[in-house]
Amino acid sequence: MERLTKCPLCKSGHFLNYSSIKDWAVTQEDFILCKCQDCQLIFTNPRPDEKQIGTYYEFPEYYSHQDESKGLVQKIYNQVRKINISKKYHLIHKLNTGKSILDIGCGTGELLNFFKAKGWQVVGIEPNKKARRLAKEKLDDNVFKNLKKIPEKEQYDVITLFHVLEHIHGLRKALKNIINHLKSNGYIILALPNHQSSDAKKYAEFWAGWDVPRHLYHFGPETVDYLAKQYELEILEQKSMVFDSYYASLLSEKYQNKSAANFNHLVQAFISGVKSNKQAKTTGNYSSILYILRKK
Ligand SMILES: [Zn+2]
Repeated sequence: MERLTKCPLCKSGHFLNYSSIKDWAVTQEDFILCKCQDCQLIFTNPRPDEKQIGTYYEFPEYYSHQDESKGLVQKIYNQVRKINISKKYHLIHKLNTGKSILDIGCGTGELLNFFKAKGWQVVGIEPNKKARRLAKEKLDDNVFKNLKKIPEKEQYDVITLFHVLEHIHGLRKALKNIINHLKSNGYIILALPNHQSSDAKKYAEFWAGWDVPRHLYHFGPETVDYLAKQYELEILEQKSMVFDSYYASLLSEKYQNKSAANFNHLVQAFISGVKSNKQAKTTGNYSSILYILRKK
């Protein structure tokens, strides 16, 4: 385990214990969350180091690494993914930029494959070997293990990180690297779980968005504000990811009831998702938030 003595985002030594959360999905181990008193980032600390973290991803239900449908939650996940891909495309298409995109954490390459078919130049980063192999087949081998494999001078119009930034060790270094690969006036699309959402508050320690220790960081909107200022990015928009409230609620129901997903969980998750989205319309605190940032 790796114990951080400074906040991984702002380097402040001024942080306090915030709570303790179990790894419901895989190991049932407990992890402590700390909260930075300066930038408000909540972070998992201590945490498995880069070599140790791999084992925490080794479970059959890690949905974003699979193509085939197995089980109820996976089936729902795949259907929603299809709808989300087209939503994401339209959102990015509307930005009216050049047509090069780098998707960090591209999984099996579904999103990039959609962009490719629309005539975009696409490149993906995916650390998981199995997912990367599936992505490479779709994307003419334009998928790499990490950012270091891409020539330093390569720059993109759009860089996307859908539920990815919270998984990366070496946060500051990664952010610097990502921005170096972005053209000036280029866009970063960042999707992050939001621990200030109504579903997060409802499920508390059972909330699926904590997902420790795979989620190393837990960003609220004020921390993303801080991040944007530090890295000379401008937040243009904060958008809803309406499906995420249902998905997070469904997994949280499963964790809270300590059983496989069933019909009752689906009903409860639906109610919780509707409530969360409704509240977020006024507060902006969606279960996950999609931030559109532009390089200044
Ligand atoms: Zn901090």
